[in-house]
This record gives sequence, C-alpha cells and structure tokens, in this order.
Amino acid sequence: MKIVKSPQELQKICLSLVRKNKSIGLVPTMGALHAGHISLIKKSVSQNDVTVVSVYVNPIQFGPDEDYNKYPRPIENDIKICKENKVDFLFLPTNETLYGKKFLTYVATEEISKIMCGVTRPIHFRGVTTVVSKLLNISLADRAYFGLKDYQQYIIIKKMVEDLNIRTKIIGCPIVREKTGIALSSRNTYLKPEAKSEANGIYAALCKAKKEFSDGKTLSAIKKNLEKNILKINDSKIDYVELRNADTLEPATKDDKKVLVAVAVKVGNVRLIDNTVCSK
Ligand code: AMP
Repeated sequence: MKIVKSPQELQKICLSLVRKNKSIGLVPTMGALHAGHISLIKKSVSQNDVTVVSVYVNPIQFGPDEDYNKYPRPIENDIKICKENKVDFLFLPTNETLYGKKFLTYVATEEISKIMCGVTRPIHFRGVTTVVSKLLNISLADRAYFGLKDYQQYIIIKKMVEDLNIRTKIIGCPIVREKTGIALSSRNTYLKPEAKSEANGIYAALCKAKKEFSDGKTLSAIKKNLEKNILKINDSKIDYVELRNADTLEPATKDDKKVLVAVAVKVGNVRLIDNTVCSK
C-alpha cells in the first residue's frame, strides 16, 4: 500500500491507471476506521482493480460549534486497517493541500441538503459535496462507496453525480451494526457505556417502525409510535424523526413503495443518526 499526501500526485497515479484500463474504486472516509468502513473497502477491493481510501477530516463540513477539533484521529490504526484490507492507495491530504490557496469554489445540491440533517447542520452537505467532488476529480474513480447509514448523504451524492454528469458510479453499502443494534460510527467513542447501551434502543425503535409499515399502519401512526419509543430511551432528545420517499427524500406518501424512516437523536450530548428503509 502506498500512502499519498499530495492531490496532484494521486491524480497523476490515477490517470496513469485509467490509461492502462484499470478500474478505480474510491472509499472516502474521515478515519477512525471501523467495521462499517471496512465493509465499504472490501466491496471496493472486490469490484475494482485498484482501491483508493481517503482519510480526511474535512473542516468545511463542520459547523462552528461542532466536533471538528475533537473528532478522533487514530491514524496509525487506520493505516494498519487499510494495509490489512488490501487497499492500494491511502490518500491523506491536508487542509493546506486541499484548501490552501484561497479557496472560492463550492458544490451544493439544493433543497435536499436543507432538510433532515441540513436543518441543524446548514453548511454540512455543501462541505460534503465539495470535498467529494474534489476526491472524485482527484481519484478519477469508476466507483465510489458510501454507507447507507448516512442515507441523506448517499442520496445527495447520487444527485450531485447525476446533475453534474460525473461518470463515477455511486454504490450504497448496508449499515453495519454492533450485535446489540447500534450502528457503528466513529462518534460512538463519545458515548459513555450506559449511554451506549441506551442508544441500542434507537435500532429497536426503527425495527418496530419497519414491522408497523409491513403490517399496513398509517405513516402518521408509525411516526408517532417511533417518536414515543425513542423518547423512552434515557436522556434522549429527538432532533428529527422523518418518513420520506427513499429515492427522492420527498415527504413519504401512502403510495410510496420504498419509505425511508430516518432519525437523529441526541443521547446525552452525543448526536446519533440511524435509519431503515421499508419496502412494500
Ligand atoms: P465517515 O468516516 O463517518 O465520514 O464515513 C465514511 C463512510 O463510511 C460513509 O460513506 C459512511 O456512510 C460509511 N459508514 C460509516 N459508518 C457506517 C456503518 N456503520 N455502516 C456502513 N457504512 C458506514
């Protein structure tokens, strides 16, 4: 595995791979890699000649009161995980190399970046779409891998790629969970043990909602019960509970065949997101 720090160098390497007809898979991450990230890496390795993983805590997707400074950065362990999982290139850019010269250009996917997580994190998705555009341009990836845990992000990136005629295929990968139910997240390290065990209740509540959907309950009843079940979790505060069309993120209607049930919940002072997709 080669570690590359310079965007120009990685682009040069990837261009020569493209010219040799090699397929390139990209896995963008912020590091503190766990089994969720590893599932994306494994998929990329299985589907491409070459896999590029980026580890970069992207400052422009964090609001001023968010956890940019305290976000975990266990880089040595990330390097080890990438090596063990047959990553070809680990891209470790810096703020200097990505945004160093007076940076003026942003990519924003309107409307669907303003709802759900976008309500409390108004600049978040603009930061994500901007950095992902840069990573796609640098890596020239044929395929890029995103977790469905960040479902809204996945839909936004797919829309961005469609709208801007980017040729990379966006692949959504299933949510990896602990046996107890909680979705793996680098931010779970912020949870105290009791809060972590309470947070398993989020998945249990989503499973109940999914069962109610397949039992034919109305969307408003499902939403109400889900809110009630989440509020049973100790020290929990709902940021949002939303039922939306799983392809467009429009508010769900009774005719939708695939409905996304998505939540953002604070347990203690740690904000967690999770979701499930219900199909008819
Ligand atoms: P992050 O490092 O949090 O920016 O995540 C990098 C990628 O890994 C994103 O596409 C996430 O959706 C994905 N990811 C994070 N946690 C999980 C998980 N538990 N299961 C599947 N994918 C995940």
